[in-house]
Amino acid sequence: LMQLSVPLNFIGFIYREIRQGLTDIEQMFDLLDVPQEVVDRPGAEPLKVEEGTVEFRDVHFAYDPDRQILKGISFKVAAGKTVAIVGPSGAGKSTISRLLFRFYDIQQGAILVDGQDIRDVAQESLRAAIGMVPQDTVLFNDTIAYNIRYGRTDATEAEVQKAAELAQIGSFIEALPAGYKSMVGERGLKLSGGEKQRVAIARTILKAPPILMLDEATSALDTHTEQEIQAALDLVSRGRTTIVIAHRLSTVISADEIIVLKDGRIAERGTHVDLLRERGLYAAMWDRQREATEAEERLRIAREAD
Ligand code: ATP
Repeated sequence: LMQLSVPLNFIGFIYREIRQGLTDIEQMFDLLDVPQEVVDRPGAEPLKVEEGTVEFRDVHFAYDPDRQILKGISFKVAAGKTVAIVGPSGAGKSTISRLLFRFYDIQQGAILVDGQDIRDVAQESLRAAIGMVPQDTVLFNDTIAYNIRYGRTDATEAEVQKAAELAQIGSFIEALPAGYKSMVGERGLKLSGGEKQRVAIARTILKAPPILMLDEATSALDTHTEQEIQAALDLVSRGRTTIVIAHRLSTVISADEIIVLKDGRIAERGTHVDLLRERGLYAAMWDRQREATEAEERLRIAREAD
């Protein structure tokens, strides 16, 4: 029995190592809500990104055959430009980001990157070309440096630190007792939503993808954090083709085009000024949000006066 226990221990060790690796991967896929069913076409070539234009051409999509989520969506993001997607909860905004990453195949229409149908290219090359900053980043149970370096595993320590600084989280990390070696994730330091998002931004800065997909947090952040994150996002999206699922007014105001999604269709489109003039769905959303922001501001001032 003694003779057996050593190899068994060893197997246990290997098993735990593999489990941890799998947990990391599972977390990534959970986070991205990925079913792993899409496969490369035989002989699929890598995507060739020259400018980084993105086009959705009459895209129809359903997760389940009996419930259509996107019902003919067409839009184009020119190289280096920003398109903001807004719309009520459940309208299909996050679905658009999952489709661009090709986590699912569409039922009709086409999604093109620099004119190449994403179904025809190697998935790995497609995903390498797109940086994703999700609302809520799942961190690995490892050091904060590891979590940032995940954006580009061969990045040097100096590059990791530079990315953290650009993402406005450098000074926060340096103030931690173990600095960049601090453990984070479930078994380590718990980071706030805003801090996690900045880790995701730092990863994306390292990855330096030509195309960026941002999913802004819906949860309210304090004004200071929000400004810091906004500054970091502006920096990372500069000169990159950007699609942003927008919840902040500052984002939509500066977008080259805003797409208002409702019930799986584009209800309105245009710039902020165009859409305010239309006095439609977007103008109503904007008014509501402005009222909410003003009410919050009044509350804050009242609290401070107490
Ligand atoms: P929110 O602003 O609340 O995040 P959204 O506009 O991003 O909403 P999506 O997440 O794109 O909305 O979801 C669109 C619709 O698709 C929702 O009704 C949702 O229930 C459905 N849906 C999302 N993911 C799946 C899935 N994996 N399987 C089945 N239905 C799904």
